[in-house]
Order: sequence, then structure tokens, then C-alpha cells
Amino acid sequence: MSRSLHFACQQGCIDCCDTRGYVYLTGEDLRSAAHFISLTAEEFERRYVYRTRHLLRLRKPPDRQCPFLSAQGCLIHPVKPTQCRLYPFWPEIVERADDWRAESVRCRGIGKGHLVQIGTAIETANQMRAAYPTMY
Ligand code: SF4
Ligand code: SF4
Repeated sequence: MSRSLHFACQQGCIDCCDTRGYVYLTGEDLRSAAHFISLTAEEFERRYVYRTRHLLRLRKPPDRQCPFLSAQGCLIHPVKPTQCRLYPFWPEIVERADDWRAESVRCRGIGKGHLVQIGTAIETANQMRAAYPTMY
């Protein structure tokens, strides 16, 4: 495949954090975020996480999509969950050219900035598969 993509996250943008949907965490994401805000993993989970049989996801406050979304951006940015860190290089977005183009409606960084080789994009997307094996 010889496709190449362009992407640069746009300063000040929080569109992907403000999009309807869930934020899923790996166990390591949970522990890192807890440590970052000086909570135990157990306390972090009690306050912020909804655990299903196979998945962990952030609880949604009534007024926004994510408990860590503020007007200034992500309050846990250095340790944000894997899906946040890898977006928009998710398998369902990068694997087909049409899907990548369509996602530009939601992400204004798509089509801008430096060139990303498709092989690199797919490698990044594979980190999503590895992080959330029950979702793919
Ligand atoms: S929507 Fe795209 S440009 Fe905006 S913050 Fe998310 S990744 Fe960056
Ligand atoms: S954890 Fe941070 S990056 Fe992820 S959706 Fe929430 S505010 Fe956005």
C-alpha cells in the first residue's frame, strides 16, 4: 500500500474530547492516571471508572463527555488514555482511505501538517488492537 496521510493536532482544539462516545482505559492507563492525580488506583476507579466484564471506561459527568475535559484541555494530558493518545490513528479510521477522509469532519488536524507513511499509521493503529483486544 503506498498511501500517505497528513496530520497535525491543532493547538487549542478539544473537538475529539468533546465528541459523543466513551473513553476506554487499559489497566496501565488507569494506574498512570491515578498516580498523576495522586490517587490510589482503587480510589481512581471508584471515582472515575465504570468497569464491565471486559472493559474499563471513564464515567461521564452529566455536563460533558469526559471527567478530565476542561476549558483548558485535558487535565491528565501527560498520561491520557491510550485511545486519546493514538487518535486519529485508530484501525477503523486509518485502514481505508475513505474513512480517513471522512474523519476530517470530526478532526481538523487530518489533512494538515507533516506526512505520515501508511505503514507508520497502521503500526500506531495496531497499538489500539493490542491495548483493547476485546474491541477488535
Ligand atoms: S480533533 Fe484532531 S486536531 Fe482536534 S484535538 Fe483532536 S486530534 Fe487534535
Ligand atoms: S482523558 Fe483527556 S484526552 Fe481523553 S477524552 Fe478526556 S479530556 Fe480528552
